[in-house]
Amino acid sequence: MTDGFDPYALRAQFPAFNASDWVYLDSAATAQKPQCVIDAICQSYMAPVANVHRGQHQASLSTTAQFEQARREVAAFIDANPSEIIWTRGATEAINLLAYSLSHTLTANDCILVSEMEHHANLLPWQLIAQRTGAQLVKIPCCVSTGQLDMDAYQQALTTRPRIVAISHVSNVTGTRHPIEAMTALAHRHGATVIIDGAQGIVHEPLSMQTLNADFYVFSGHKLYGPTGIGVLYGKPEALATLAPFHGGGKMITDVTFDDHTLAPIPARFEAGTPNTAGAIGLAAAIQWLKQYDAQAIDTHISDCYQSLLDGLKQRPAIKLICPQPHSTIVSFVVEGEHHADIAELLSQQNVAVRSGHHCAHPLIKALGVEGTVRVSLGAYNHQEDIQRFLTALDKTLYLLG
Ligand code: PLP
Repeated sequence: MTDGFDPYALRAQFPAFNASDWVYLDSAATAQKPQCVIDAICQSYMAPVANVHRGQHQASLSTTAQFEQARREVAAFIDANPSEIIWTRGATEAINLLAYSLSHTLTANDCILVSEMEHHANLLPWQLIAQRTGAQLVKIPCCVSTGQLDMDAYQQALTTRPRIVAISHVSNVTGTRHPIEAMTALAHRHGATVIIDGAQGIVHEPLSMQTLNADFYVFSGHKLYGPTGIGVLYGKPEALATLAPFHGGGKMITDVTFDDHTLAPIPARFEAGTPNTAGAIGLAAAIQWLKQYDAQAIDTHISDCYQSLLDGLKQRPAIKLICPQPHSTIVSFVVEGEHHADIAELLSQQNVAVRSGHHCAHPLIKALGVEGTVRVSLGAYNHQEDIQRFLTALDKTLYLLG
């Protein structure tokens, strides 16, 4: 146990673990929710419900105040200004917003640089926009022996002056933490707009948008112990100002005539329609919950669990680790001759939840020369017993598979 940090007390706040004696090792897909987040969502519906930014009555004013407080909470969490925070449904919608809203800046002479290690959420939007604009999609390759991006190839690709560089903070397959600070600085030197997919990265690392200096950073609430259906697009003010509107509708305008409109200021410009108020309030509750802990203590606790996990996997000769990273929360593996789905199924029968498959990262899975992997990923609520129970269940699985 890390000094002053009690992982059991933290875990006790998650009803999902009171209801069932299971081992949950799939937090990279989505995290369980602490009681306070569930309460915040419930309360937002139990209080008189009202739409935000639309009424003079007390309920609307109060809901609007909570909604905007949630925006301030998120902004403070990543060291940004509230006006730089756009609510979305998640990381996927945020990247789609960016691809669509930047497409007017792209021509057939431009190129978009995307890594080979991306989740489909940070590839498909760029493919679609490249196909629509004629821009070229260029790959930053992955070194398949290390699971790191090929930085020489990246620097070479930058000399073609791409308009956009889109990379993940942390790979959801290998757990690789990409050098996003250095990559952002290099991209800026070549005039590119930098977009970071923080869906996996924000969860385990405090981050300052001022230090990172990326033009855009996106993440989802549900991987951060918050609700589903809410996400964040952070943008530098000058970068947000280059975006064309995404969705049209209520609240993204200040004036409308039958055939024209005047756009509202940012962030309202990108938040057409009734927002996910309960989601925003729930995400703010998740951030408040996280902030009560020393981030370093949680990190040390998860790192200890992760190290036990890696050590245990390495001791089993049947296991082939896929580019294990030294300091991470995610590890993928295969067992020669066995299907990844069979392993996950047999683990599930023993109450151990892991993910198997291609993890929405087909190009990376293909580059790694496998058909899929078993992925184990940790959250703050995991502890050493989870790792030991997983390893015991894995031994039984390997025995059953023969
Ligand atoms: N990017 C990465 C690296 C992810 O791991 C995920 C989800 O697993 C996403 C993007 C998409 O997130 P969401 O489905 O919450 O939009």
